[in-house]
Amino acid sequence: MQPSTWHPHLWHPTTQVAHAPVPLKVLQAHGATLQLADGRQLIDAISSWWVTLHGHAEPTIAAAIAAQAQQLEQVIFANFSHEPAESLADRLSALSGLERLFFSDNGSTAVEVALKIAWQWWRNRGEARHRLIAFEGAYHGDTVGAMAVGARSIFTAPFEPLLFDVARVPWPHTCWHDEGVEEREAAALAELEQALQTPSAAVILEPLIQGASGMAMVRPPFLRAVQERVRAAGSLLIADEVMTGFGRTGSLFACEQAGLRPDLMALSKGLTGGFLPMGVTLASERLYQGFISDDPTATFFHGHSFTANPLGCAAALASLDRLEADPERYTHFEARHRPHLELLSHHPLVRRPRCLGTVAAFEVAVDQPGYLNAVGRRIQHLCLERGVYLRPLGNVVYLLPPLCLSDAQLERCYAAIGAALEASPG
Ligand code: PMP
Repeated sequence: MQPSTWHPHLWHPTTQVAHAPVPLKVLQAHGATLQLADGRQLIDAISSWWVTLHGHAEPTIAAAIAAQAQQLEQVIFANFSHEPAESLADRLSALSGLERLFFSDNGSTAVEVALKIAWQWWRNRGEARHRLIAFEGAYHGDTVGAMAVGARSIFTAPFEPLLFDVARVPWPHTCWHDEGVEEREAAALAELEQALQTPSAAVILEPLIQGASGMAMVRPPFLRAVQERVRAAGSLLIADEVMTGFGRTGSLFACEQAGLRPDLMALSKGLTGGFLPMGVTLASERLYQGFISDDPTATFFHGHSFTANPLGCAAALASLDRLEADPERYTHFEARHRPHLELLSHHPLVRRPRCLGTVAAFEVAVDQPGYLNAVGRRIQHLCLERGVYLRPLGNVVYLLPPLCLSDAQLERCYAAIGAALEASPG
């Protein structure tokens, strides 16, 4: 057994967060299982922050990357193109209904590109629209632009005032047995209408589920009503599907199920099946045409060095193949969660149970919700002792497992949560 210690030369992202425990050292990972350096095995019940879509080291994706690495590992995309990028653009365009694909490096920059395109599109039309509209509780990434449209938190506070003038509208999230959701939806729509009275470049939202704020789910009719208001005001709609994309909500994209036809869509996380960091922003042909001009200042400039990296594209194509070969793995996941969550929902500490697609969540009844509350950390610790890795968001406990998770592993996850609740004082 190796004792875990903080590494002397790493600046780890969770170093300072509320007495964070020393990171667990991972030796290798396959399927839903992480193999730790100290000999323990853990079920990765949240797909390493919603990334490893099929599970770790999915063999078909690993093989596609290895083959691509033999052929073309990288070339600057500014002056060149290549088959993997073109095939991926064709496929994602056909699947999303958005004709143009712009590459970037991760979820934050996919969002940032969407915001920049929306802004410049208006500018190219001769209209300065400086206002963006976002939803309370939203999370869109950690780059400065993406932070500006996310909820204010202890993480964004040091960077105030953030870029962009942003109006915020309530997010009327709901659960299985909710009361008063219609009233909250109507109030949110009224606030949206009010915000849209100021000409706004775009409205950005996480379709169906706000992830980082605690798997906060809204109903499809609410999102359709949002879309109607956005269209009526002549603004643009940006769907951030970084978390919800690729089957996570039970349909390939959450927009599909919600009846949304956004102007821009950001994708990342599951895009490469979790193998390589890559993001894409899909845009409608109408928006693209707004950048075709003899005026060089009308051009959209955003050129990352690794744009359209061929290895990432090959991984994304193989991941799509894997997804399409067996769609029941995501369309039927919700039915697998339901009986377990129903059972848990009778526990006196469980509030607001909900699930959609591969995502299941509930709140632990505590007096002190919020990111730094101790109950979530305690549940994480107790589940770890039972061989299950999860990471509650404040007092929200959730599962977002890889599609390869077996029934036996799913049962172990719920059993660990049940035992952790029994051992929690509340
Ligand atoms: N948007 C959403 C909805 C997300 O959930 C995340 C990541 N949690 C991001 C954007 C940012 O993605 P990344 O961490 O890859 O920058």
